[in-house]
Amino acid sequence: DADRLRDGALLRTRLFIDGTWREGQGAPSEVRDPASGAVLAAVESASAADVEDAVAAAERAGRAWGKVTAPERARTLRRWFELIVEHADDLAMILTAEQGKPLAEARGEIIYGAGFVEWYAEEAKRTYGEVIPSNVGSRRLLTVRQPVGVTAAITPWNFPSAMILRKAAPALAAGCSMIVKPAPETPLSALALAELAQRAGIPAGVLSVVPGPAEEVGGVLTSSPVVRALSFTGSTAVGKLLMQQSAGTVKKLALELGGNAPLIVFDDADLDAAVAGAMASKFRNAGQTCVCANRILVQAGIHDAFVERLREAVADLRVGNGFEDGSEQGPLISTAAVEKVQRHVADAVSGGASVVLGGEVHELGGTFFQPTLLTGVTGDMLVAREETFGPLAAVIRFETEEEAVTLANATEFGLAAYFFTQDLGRSWRVGEALEFGVVGINTGLISYEGAPFGGVKESGLGREGSLHGIDEFTEIKYLCIDGV
Ligand code: ADP
Repeated sequence: DADRLRDGALLRTRLFIDGTWREGQGAPSEVRDPASGAVLAAVESASAADVEDAVAAAERAGRAWGKVTAPERARTLRRWFELIVEHADDLAMILTAEQGKPLAEARGEIIYGAGFVEWYAEEAKRTYGEVIPSNVGSRRLLTVRQPVGVTAAITPWNFPSAMILRKAAPALAAGCSMIVKPAPETPLSALALAELAQRAGIPAGVLSVVPGPAEEVGGVLTSSPVVRALSFTGSTAVGKLLMQQSAGTVKKLALELGGNAPLIVFDDADLDAAVAGAMASKFRNAGQTCVCANRILVQAGIHDAFVERLREAVADLRVGNGFEDGSEQGPLISTAAVEKVQRHVADAVSGGASVVLGGEVHELGGTFFQPTLLTGVTGDMLVAREETFGPLAAVIRFETEEEAVTLANATEFGLAAYFFTQDLGRSWRVGEALEFGVVGINTGLISYEGAPFGGVKESGLGREGSLHGIDEFTEIKYLCIDGV
């Protein structure tokens, strides 16, 4: 409801292509409030032809944007950052309405995402080349970094705002144009960001947003020879498909795919820190993040004390509508998401695990699920092999450090891992041995725009954030000058 916003113009339901708000040629699609199932808005849907228009606009606009000086691009991005922060309350309301997370968490996401725009506004000025000592007297060798050109982003519903900003900020900073296909569950957050991009003075066509049928929109974006890079966050299955589809045009790919994060608590851990870290990592966004602790590995000596403290903390979680004061866990995104958690609980219990808390749909009904704690989980259970993406803490007991590392690495995924220890030597040993792209030591929260985020193995390719994040959107050109 636009009346509840301070700035009702942030609620956009049309496609944003080449700087204009357009009707789509596809059938409009409904956006629902996951807390109630009520329809929030009907959003226009792009057809293949609409996406081709966006690609053509991005090609034209991108050529000019790439030639804008870096300080000028930086100032424009800086204005976008400031507008996002200024409108954080409205953006958070839109986000909670379509995604369900508690309003305070939604606001946190807006500020976190804005941080990428601020960071890359600064970094735009630092895409340095190099001068290479020559091997031939008459030659001078150097490199320049140039924008890759037109880029595309396909983003998920769990962080409807931050996942777009994390991609668009480095792309635009590098001098690229970008076409964003948001998740069908959460297009409103994406369109609101486009509105602010326009107000910030980002030129028409440099950033377009095209909600629409995934296969059709994704098909155009991946097959187009004009689109030179694709940045995707989502499931490993879809990531692999997009990788295949992009092979025909040999695109640069940045893929942030699924995870199966272990969180290891060693006997020598600080118990308070371990419980706080497990809660933050596991239950944030109702467990619907790719870095949520999916397997909590606890050493035998601290196991019972840890489980007791975790039980108390889980029992204290306040489940409720994201707009209610004090809500800590909102609804899950869909009934399919609820069914996956139920499947993991049932499979674990049939294999001998115990339900310490929860395990069922919450009394609020719909897609609200009880914060759940399982013990006696083993590595062969579904809950340990697949990403649950829900509020289910699965505790696995282990004896030795070596066993913990082996268990932790026994997955095709390699995004985030966490462990808790007060032993310096163990911090190094285990930190080096874990086959994951991001490792939190004595903390369950690691995200920061200034640090590189990304996975190894089947969790993906490339990094987002930090000075490395801009590499996905630049090419190195080597210039060899002879006759000097
Ligand atoms: P989830 O299961 O968490 O929704 P997905 O990987 O299915 O994760 O979705 C992430 C993003 O990928 C969404 O924007 C979705 O619409 C998009 N997507 C899903 N399938 C395809 C596809 N075949 N081609 C292009 N994009 C897709």
